Amino acid sequence: MAEPSHIPHEFTACPDCDLLLQTAQSDHTLEGRCPRCKAVLWHAAKHTDTVSFAAAISGLILFYPAMTLPILKLKMVGQHGSNSLLGGIYRMWVEQEQILAVLIMLCSLLAPLLHLLLTAVVCFSVRFNHYPSHFPLWIKYKCLMQSWNMLEVYAMGIIVAYVKMMHDGEVTVSAGTYCLSGLLLCVILCSQYFHEEQAWQHWEKNKPA
Ligand SMILES: [Zn+2]
Repeated sequence: MAEPSHIPHEFTACPDCDLLLQTAQSDHTLEGRCPRCKAVLWHAAKHTDTVSFAAAISGLILFYPAMTLPILKLKMVGQHGSNSLLGGIYRMWVEQEQILAVLIMLCSLLAPLLHLLLTAVVCFSVRFNHYPSHFPLWIKYKCLMQSWNMLEVYAMGIIVAYVKMMHDGEVTVSAGTYCLSGLLLCVILCSQYFHEEQAWQHWEKNKPA
């Protein structure tokens, strides 16, 4: 994805505000933007795939500690407690909140994991110019997992829990929170720097006959 994206011939519609635009011959080193809402119409030749590939690999490394290490440590009326994301899901399942447990597992565990994994696989294929027949499916599922990924909602929950409990006892932020923050940053970078359209263009150019 180091190559520039395709510049549409004659007419194109803005993906954000649907403004119909007439496209002239343009320089590939410049990014095309909508004059009304400034949405990106085509990308310049930049190594954006390097950022998304690096973010996906870093996210995969951070994934296991973010899920298993304690997030908050609580000391209240002589009692100590700590819990991880995985421990929280198990606790909900045991407390007869199975639907909620499945929903959290899907949005905070499975979707981010598959999102990172598929981003890494697609970027790896593009980088090494190897396009297996499953490549289009990987792009489709990567975009599907991106929309189900709601790790930031869980992070928001941690902040709310921290603020609520900080006056009732001694609450300390643990290693899990730092790993989760890093993971969240990697997921955001993956979404921001991965250009689906360019991945499809690579497939069009290099798909096996
Ligand atoms: Zn627009």
